[in-house]
Amino acid sequence: MSILSKKDQEQLISEAMDPTKVTLTCGTHTYAYGGKTSPNFKCKRCLFTMFMGLIANTPPDKRKEQMEMLEFTIHELIEAKKSGKMQDFFKHPEVYVGDKRVGVPKVN
Ligand SMILES: [Zn+2]
Repeated sequence: MSILSKKDQEQLISEAMDPTKVTLTCGTHTYAYGGKTSPNFKCKRCLFTMFMGLIANTPPDKRKEQMEMLEFTIHELIEAKKSGKMQDFFKHPEVYVGDKRVGVPKVN
């Protein structure tokens, strides 16, 4: 016996097969935004997945507020780094589609 109803199973399958749907994941740590697995906070892919998922799931009218909160947090982290309370940052974001890295050239 399945935990999911027949209707839920069919909906999940149709969502998974939807060619227009994007699912952000870190394949290394099997982390997906909204999933049960926790992100690895030392992993760039996990962090990218986490923040992109956060922004993508924020209603449009709240995105500016969310970005301002993230900007504030980044400034706080920079100050923590300057005072020696924090480790180095990643030098650059890396964006992957499947296993192919796209966008920003690798610098670190
Ligand atoms: Zn990861």
